[in-house]
Amino acid sequence: MNFHIMTLFPEMIQSSLSSSITGRAENKGYISFNAVNIRDYSNDLKHHKVDDYTYGGGAGMLMQAQPIYDCFIDIKNKIIQNGGKSPRVIYVTPQGSVFNQQKAQELSKEEDLVFLCGHYEGVDERVLEEIVTDYISIGDYVLTGGELPAMVMIDAISRLVPGVLNNDESALTESFHNNLLEYPQYSRPEEWMGKKVPPILLSGDHKKVDEWRLEQSIIRTKERRPDLYEKWLLENPPKPEKKKRRRRKAAEEPEVSGNVVADSNVDNKDGE
Ligand code: SAH
Repeated sequence: MNFHIMTLFPEMIQSSLSSSITGRAENKGYISFNAVNIRDYSNDLKHHKVDDYTYGGGAGMLMQAQPIYDCFIDIKNKIIQNGGKSPRVIYVTPQGSVFNQQKAQELSKEEDLVFLCGHYEGVDERVLEEIVTDYISIGDYVLTGGELPAMVMIDAISRLVPGVLNNDESALTESFHNNLLEYPQYSRPEEWMGKKVPPILLSGDHKKVDEWRLEQSIIRTKERRPDLYEKWLLENPPKPEKKKRRRRKAAEEPEVSGNVVADSNVDNKDGE
């Protein structure tokens, strides 16, 4: 998968993404980063100007349409020459829909993706209308430039590209998969600061471990992200009660309350 990033600060992008896991994946050829300097496409050959005052007044400078458009056309032509199709173009902007794991999944299926990083006050609306297919934000706050948001998205998308993570498993069990947060995890030693690793994780019983992890994921999501928990609940509606068995059980012994597992609504018995 090839990422093409239109930016005024290509060195910022190139150096960050070429380190760590994304850098390793680039070396192995699973992904590529192509940070292109918009300034190189300025028609102003003397000062390479790329911004100007906004019509109608107001503080700050705006990135002009022409250099961005020419930069995009060059990137697009190269993609097409290499046998690709006209790419999706993402303008990273606080005015976009908020990025999430689902969006990352969707975008990870593309062969080429173009990102446009704004700066200063933003970008002349006309070039956005001309080239942008997706407006995406990383959250409800305003940053100085689009480079960090583009890198956040590229990082999240990259790790979903097959081969990028060493262990394909990990992307499947992680937070936000199926609208659940990941369960707590532990490494050596077995005891640290008087805190023991939950014994079930040392039992070697994979089925029990899986059940425990699912329970913990549900408890954690309910506590920390009730909004996600509601979504999970909609997709995992309560199972019908096994009436006969429960009635007999109730007659034999009083129902235990306050049990974390029951409380976690694993079977959604309380139908919340
Ligand atoms: N005046 C603009 C904000 C400009 S911030 C407005 O009010 O909408 C400068 C650039 O930073 C933007 O063009 C955009 O590319 C980037 N940016 C800032 N905050 C962002 C966010 N939350 N998500 C994605 N990109 C952001």
